[in-house]
Amino acid sequence: MNNVAEALIIAGSDSGGGAGVQADIKTMQACGVYSTNVIVAITAQNTLGVQDSLNIPVSLINAQFSSIFADFNIKAAKTGMLADRVSLTCVVENIIKFKINRLVVDPVMVAKGGAKLLNDDAIVTLKKQLLPLALITTPNLPEAQVIVGHKISNQNDIMQAAKKIQAMGSKNVIIKGGHDDKKRVRDFVLLENQKQFFLESERIETNRTHGTGDTLSSAITSALAKGHSVEEAIRFGRKVVTKTIEFGIIVGHGHGPLNHWA
Ligand code: PLP
Repeated sequence: MNNVAEALIIAGSDSGGGAGVQADIKTMQACGVYSTNVIVAITAQNTLGVQDSLNIPVSLINAQFSSIFADFNIKAAKTGMLADRVSLTCVVENIIKFKINRLVVDPVMVAKGGAKLLNDDAIVTLKKQLLPLALITTPNLPEAQVIVGHKISNQNDIMQAAKKIQAMGSKNVIIKGGHDDKKRVRDFVLLENQKQFFLESERIETNRTHGTGDTLSSAITSALAKGHSVEEAIRFGRKVVTKTIEFGIIVGHGHGPLNHWA
């Protein structure tokens, strides 16, 4: 028998298997971590986009948390798609109830195809109630702009935005630079002890990046579940994402998924 680190995914399902809970499970599996799941929403989705979605009733979100915490020894958790203010509030209550403190918040808002994965009316709750519970928050540039409430146009803006997100209560912040159009990808990291640095790599030219954010936050959560430090977990997560993009696979007719075997 082997001991294995246990983690929790709190997110939405992607029927196409490329993003959401499915990307999270594949990532954690590849990282050698056992993943449990609270499904907050179900999307009918493929590599071409999101065709439909359904939010899970609060009673069933609560029931999933209760089942998991009655049985498993959860070392770290991540949030992904939280759908709307009602489900986000329910998730916040459960994070507090079950004292989840190694929490990675991926503030998922819009899919690359343009579908909304979080209602606008949930943004204030995300900022006021969820970010203060986060050990690490992992926004991309558009999400960081929504959270701080203004455009981020240069390196200095990114650093200031990370400070603002930290001031909202997230102990550590990584702002992902993959959404600007530079030749290199630069992610900015601000740690709790005020250490700050950029993580930089060559941009890989591909449209097969569906589920990149989910994969990063799940790899970070896996490393946290195994007991690594926040800085180690972030550096590890970034390496995992680069590899899964680099060795991309060809399935579907659109915006393809990553290679979680890589
Ligand atoms: N669908 C679900 C359920 C997700 O949770 C996410 C991201 O978190 C996405 C889609 C977005 O995927 P992408 O923007 O990488 O295409």
